[in-house]
Amino acid sequence: MIATSLIDIGINLAHDSFNFDREAVVARAVDAGVVQMMVTGSDGQSTRQAIEMARTHPGVLFATAGVHPHNAKELTEELLVELRQLATLPQVVAVGECGLDYFRDLSPRAAQQKAFHRQLELAAQVRKPVFLHQRDAHADFVAILREHRTSLAGGVAHCFTGNHEELIACLELELAIGITGWICDERRGAHLIPLMKEITADRLLVETDGPYLLPRDLPSKPESRRNEPAYLPHIAATVARARGESLEQLAATSTAAARRLFGLSQATMTA
Ligand SMILES: [Zn+2]
Repeated sequence: MIATSLIDIGINLAHDSFNFDREAVVARAVDAGVVQMMVTGSDGQSTRQAIEMARTHPGVLFATAGVHPHNAKELTEELLVELRQLATLPQVVAVGECGLDYFRDLSPRAAQQKAFHRQLELAAQVRKPVFLHQRDAHADFVAILREHRTSLAGGVAHCFTGNHEELIACLELELAIGITGWICDERRGAHLIPLMKEITADRLLVETDGPYLLPRDLPSKPESRRNEPAYLPHIAATVARARGESLEQLAATSTAAARRLFGLSQATMTA
């Protein structure tokens, strides 16, 4: 019997590494108690794929529509028009992933900032929350969000890996915080453990960000090193321990918080 029901708010299920067993990945997640998943759109193609997956798994899979900062230079006016149409679909529960990534700088910073502004405007137009990515760009990220703050319908700082000060800034922007398996990595994620108690339960969300960020302390790791939503309970258990809560308690509050922020309808699928 599964005691928990969790929501993976960030899974890159359109990624090539899932091409041969996508349905099995979803089934394994549901078996592990991950009852709903948000499939990340990170460019035009993955957004279209995410929406298609959400259409074929109603109530279980949902989509985000957006352009990752790595792909910011690809955000043309034409794609923006298409994203605006796609973002109004009921399967799309957030705009993004969008934001700034100065760690890898795969698109020029000016292009990243422009694409971020455009997508924040889009989110405001369609009245949907934003799914935010930020790495090594905290100051610019906060400055841009502050400009749009009053028109936004909420959002999540996905894969939060920052320090205490950065956490406080995100909370002041009224963002929810998405925690990935980064917290399971004692080399680079240990600083997140004491921060978990600083986040109120109604703003704390969990995610795998698969196929990336396989939890480093997973008892038996897949040979492929591919992360998938079935490992979310492992991440959630780490977060719960850091908060001094049971997994059941964390699951209940994070699931309720995700449903509230993204307006997720409950699954209506029959087995
Ligand atoms: Zn990201």
